[in-house]
Amino acid sequence: MDKPHLLGLTQEECQHLISELGLPTFTAKQILDWVYQKKVSDFESMSNLSKANREKLQATIDSSFYKSLQLFPSKDGLAIKYVFELTEGQKVESVVLKEKTYTTLCVSSQAGCPVDCKFCLTGVVGFKRNLHTHEIVGQIFQAMQDGHQISHLVFMGMGEPLLNYDNVMKAIDILQAPYGFNISKRKITVSTSGYIAGIKRLIETDRKLNLAFSVGNANPAKRPAIMPIENRNPITEVAKLLNTYQTKHNRKLTLEYTLLEGKNDEPEDIRDLIALAKYLRAKINLINLNPHPKIPFKPVPTKVLHKIKSWIEDARVPVTVRYKKGQDISAACGQLGESYL
Ligand code: SAH
Ligand code: SF4
Repeated sequence: MDKPHLLGLTQEECQHLISELGLPTFTAKQILDWVYQKKVSDFESMSNLSKANREKLQATIDSSFYKSLQLFPSKDGLAIKYVFELTEGQKVESVVLKEKTYTTLCVSSQAGCPVDCKFCLTGVVGFKRNLHTHEIVGQIFQAMQDGHQISHLVFMGMGEPLLNYDNVMKAIDILQAPYGFNISKRKITVSTSGYIAGIKRLIETDRKLNLAFSVGNANPAKRPAIMPIENRNPITEVAKLLNTYQTKHNRKLTLEYTLLEGKNDEPEDIRDLIALAKYLRAKINLINLNPHPKIPFKPVPTKVLHKIKSWIEDARVPVTVRYKKGQDISAACGQLGESYL
C-alpha cells in the first residue's frame, strides 16, 4: 500500500497515525509545527524528535512531493513561476504574484485540464491527472518555504478545481486550519468554468469560499464555440446555482471574462455579461487574452478593452482589469502548460 503523505494529512489523521505507531500523542503537534510553522518537511531535520522516532516516521509517512523543481522569475520580479515535476513525470505550475501589500499564489488543481476551453493553453495540453491533496498543499508549502508570505490563494492555475473536488477541499481545509497555514477562507478563491455538480456540492458545504466564474460568453448560443463545457453545464443553470450560493453563503463572486477579438467583444456580448453580473450581484474582471502560438485567438486592442470597461462602469457594475503579470515567463492566466509543449 502507498504510504500516506505528510502534506496531505489533517491534524486528526496525523494524530491517528502517531497513535498507531505507538508514539507519544504530542508528537503529532510537534510534526505539524515543524511543517506549518517552521516549513520543514523532512523528518531527519525534526530535531526535537528522537532518532528512533524519526526513523519510524520516515518508514511510515512519505514527505516528498516532487521529483524536480524549476523557478522562473519575471523580469519585473513581481511574478515567479514554479514548475514542479511530479513523481510520475507530470508537470504542474504555480505562480507567486506579488502585490504592494500582499502576495497571492495562483494554485493548480490538476495536471492539464479536461475542460478544453479553446482560449486556454492548459486546455490545449489536455488532461493528465488530478492532483492529490499533498500536491496542492505542497505548492503553497514550497512558496512559503522560499520565504513568500502567501496571504491569498486563487485556484486559477492549471485545471478545473471542481472536477477534483475532494482533494481540493481537503487541501483548503488543511491550509486554512489553525494548525496549518491559517489562511482565512475569505482570502481563498476557487475559480470554475461552471461545473454544475461541483457548484451543487459547494452550496451544501459550510466552507463559504469566494467564487469566480469564467464566463467566456454569457450568451448560451455563443458559449459552446469557445467553452464546450456549456453543452452539459448550461450557463442558465449555472447562473441559478451561483445565485443560490450567493444567497446562502454571501461571499464575493467574480465573473471572469477573457476578451477574444471578434468572439465576445461586441456590444451585445457585453450587454449579456452585464445582465448576468446584475442578476448575480457580482463584479466583473476583464482579462485580455494572453496570447500563445497554440491558441487560435487574438486579444482585443487596448482601446476596445477600455471602451468595454466604460460600458460596464456606465451600467454601475463593479469592474476591474487584470494586469498581465508574468507574461514574459508564460505565467499569466491561461498560459500555464508551457512545460508540456
Ligand atoms: N479552470 C478554472 C480555473 C483556471 S483558469 C476556470 O476556468 O475558471 C483561470 C482563468 O484564466 C479563467 O478565468 C480562464 O477563463 C482564464 N484564461 C484561460 N485562458 C486564458 C488566456 N489565454 N488568456 C487570459 N485568460 C485566460
Ligand atoms: Fe480548464 Fe479553466 Fe483552462 Fe478551461 S480555462 S481549459 S476550465 S483551466
